[in-house]
Amino acid sequence: MEIQYLGTAAAEGLPALFCDCETCRKAREIGGKEMRTRTQSIVDGKILIDFPPDTYAHALEYSLQIGQIQHLLVTHSHMDHFFPVELIHRHEHFGHNAKGMLYVYGNAAVEKAFYDAVLIDRFKVHPLDDAVRFVRLEPFADFMADGYHIIPLPADHDKRETCLIYIIEKDGKCLLYGHDTGMNLSDEAWNCIFSHKYDLISLDATMGRKQIDGYHMGLLDDIAFAKMLEERGCIHRDTVKVINHFSHNGGMTHGQLEEFAEENGMIASYDGMKVIF
Ligand SMILES: [Zn+2]
Ligand SMILES: [Zn+2]
Ligand SMILES: [Zn+2]
Repeated sequence: MEIQYLGTAAAEGLPALFCDCETCRKAREIGGKEMRTRTQSIVDGKILIDFPPDTYAHALEYSLQIGQIQHLLVTHSHMDHFFPVELIHRHEHFGHNAKGMLYVYGNAAVEKAFYDAVLIDRFKVHPLDDAVRFVRLEPFADFMADGYHIIPLPADHDKRETCLIYIIEKDGKCLLYGHDTGMNLSDEAWNCIFSHKYDLISLDATMGRKQIDGYHMGLLDDIAFAKMLEERGCIHRDTVKVINHFSHNGGMTHGQLEEFAEENGMIASYDGMKVIF
């Protein structure tokens, strides 16, 4: 299995659009891996995870044929994870030769955002019925997409909706995609997480060295999370542990995150990073 991290920042981007804090200033100065667009990933070039406003920039930067992708998993409706207006461009009028249907999977809030965006007046003349289809997910209701077994789990994030994290399995490989979430998961969610063995875990590291009680994780939470999996035999020696979804409010440069990651047997993601596992 392969995962490519197309974007690795929290909602405001890094440097943040309107920000002149020290972390953002440093990012602009150093450039390269310090510059982060909003979080999005792709598994095996086939399963797209989340659809931020930077999707277009990612398609250009990484030469992605987004029109060939037929499965989009959405974690929640926050704009850094779902920017649905752009989906209208998959209509035949704008997206020639797009491959069959794009299935967009998400919760009720994502579904509402989807229909609110694609049914606005300007686009009503271009119905998406033949190009994009929404599939409503419920936590723990697993499903198959293009040979991938996918389990949506309820996250510890915005309580106004059922934010989801995902377990993705294929050909004996297993991935836990944990953005966005804190550590206060339900027993049911933990039990499901503990019932798998992972080859890669991707953990929320929004808070950097800071810690809050839920909603997002910081680096200490990531260590604790990985340890819990290790103690239950859910990760092995070769399991890849990635930290991802960084904010300037975490106050750390990529260089500092890399240093932390190395000390703790993890990898700090950066835009464009590919991991084969
Ligand atoms: Zn986010
Ligand atoms: Zn800043
Ligand atoms: Zn969020």
